[in-house]
Amino acid sequence: MREMWINGALRAAANGQTLPVQDPATEEVIDQVPAGNADDVRAAVDAASAAFHAWRRISAGERAELLHEVAAKLTARTEALATLLTREGGKPLVENRDEMSWSAACFRYYAELGRNSRGRVIPSIEPSQLALVLKEPYGVVGAIVPWNYPILLMAWKVAPALAAGNTVVIKPSEMTPLTTLALAEVFDHLPPGVVNIVTGYGKDAGEPLVLDPRVRVIAFTGSLETGRHIARIAADQIKKLHLELGGKDAFIVAEDADLDIAVPGVAWAALLNTGQVCTSTERVYVHESIAPRFVDRIVDYARGLRLGSGMNPDTDVGPMIGAQYRAKVEAHVEDARAHGAQILAGGQRPAGQPRGFFYEPTVLTGVDHSMRIMREETFGPTIPIMTYRRFDDAIQLANDSPFGLGANLYTHDARKVKQFYEEVQAGTLWVNDPLTDNDAGPFGGMKMSGNGRELGEEGLDEFRETKHLHWDFEGGAKPWWYPYGRNE
Ligand code: NAD
Repeated sequence: MREMWINGALRAAANGQTLPVQDPATEEVIDQVPAGNADDVRAAVDAASAAFHAWRRISAGERAELLHEVAAKLTARTEALATLLTREGGKPLVENRDEMSWSAACFRYYAELGRNSRGRVIPSIEPSQLALVLKEPYGVVGAIVPWNYPILLMAWKVAPALAAGNTVVIKPSEMTPLTTLALAEVFDHLPPGVVNIVTGYGKDAGEPLVLDPRVRVIAFTGSLETGRHIARIAADQIKKLHLELGGKDAFIVAEDADLDIAVPGVAWAALLNTGQVCTSTERVYVHESIAPRFVDRIVDYARGLRLGSGMNPDTDVGPMIGAQYRAKVEAHVEDARAHGAQILAGGQRPAGQPRGFFYEPTVLTGVDHSMRIMREETFGPTIPIMTYRRFDDAIQLANDSPFGLGANLYTHDARKVKQFYEEVQAGTLWVNDPLTDNDAGPFGGMKMSGNGRELGEEGLDEFRETKHLHWDFEGGAKPWWYPYGRNE
């Protein structure tokens, strides 16, 4: 049994309740964590509120050193944290080692960016005035995190929030709370209350965080449904929301694509983390002239991938996170099959894996935009493929979605690249290099994939209020004050 981290101390839930954490590769319960509720959230927000006053005043240089120390402690614990994350989340160990190193890099990036600027000086409207645009922390930030990249998506919120001078309450997913709780050791050199971690179900521990008026910002990554709900319940407080929601990313493969690269590239973009990445490729549009060869090769490629526990170094594709997520994939594949799609690879649970939430990498053709698998977020190991004739049609198909998170293209034709980056409605565009991240560049969605941006300078600004200071340092009486007509 693990404990929560509130005000620099470990503790159980106020009501003593716990929730089980399962290994998705074996379906075994591996540990219990506190099932926190509004009482625990209140205690965490009390602590974060009390810590804010001093934390915002720490010098930028000192704060930078403290955030570098977070990064160093994360790096030193990479193996233990990555192993724990594979146990509770199922991702192959190699991917979780990457997650730890990217998370540490994010803390290092914001350690430096946070001491770089506090706003700007602008030309004043009066000669006796100094005019400043000031960037100020909000106060307490609530960071609500999903299970697919629990440490990375925590880092994308917590590193900029702390660098900007806010204090934080983290609410990890109930599916993957263990690794986040283990971060108490990574944050324990910070003043008590600057970072707090409350575990529990979304309704019991996430919702009170959204509803607490002292929490000035909610930075949320998760599903569209939960994002919508949070927006509704936060509306009365006009609370600042930063929502990173679902996606339905398109991948366009142009006729000049080298299939030796495009086939494994598309497969990796669709199947990484068993297709449970917000920017997973969920729709593939291949030029009709190369489609037969592309399909044959990706079918062979998908069949050759090795399914298994993420703890096995030979595993390419691990289990899905849980039964209800796999059921959704099965429903999408079944809907496509019922409406005439062909399943050329996968389409079922692997015969040799009776335990664990496994599902075979699945390639489908004969799909169209009337099917759920081309419209709703599937969030599983599926590669549905459509063909197109004109590049304009591919762009139109890519944009025919309520989501706008990311999009990919394989080509070396500069005119196609230009049309792609000008016309595709998505927050991140990748050409010939799917799914790379860069701390210095913003990440986020258009349309129903969310609002705001994480990472980059934009990601710091999400956690800073803007104030405009007009300071007349001479302070004389102004001729435009009452009584009017004095100077006429
Ligand atoms: P989810 O919405 O079920 O849960 C996300 C978090 O919200 C969890 O911590 C959960 O406990 C909490 N939550 C649930 N109900 C709540 C409520 N009523 N009030 C407050 N908090 C509540 O999402 P998930 O299944 O954990 O994650 C998968 C989803 O996340 C997918 O849709 C995926 O696309 C999305 N995602 C988006 C991005 C992005 O950057 N846009 C990145 C990763 C994942």
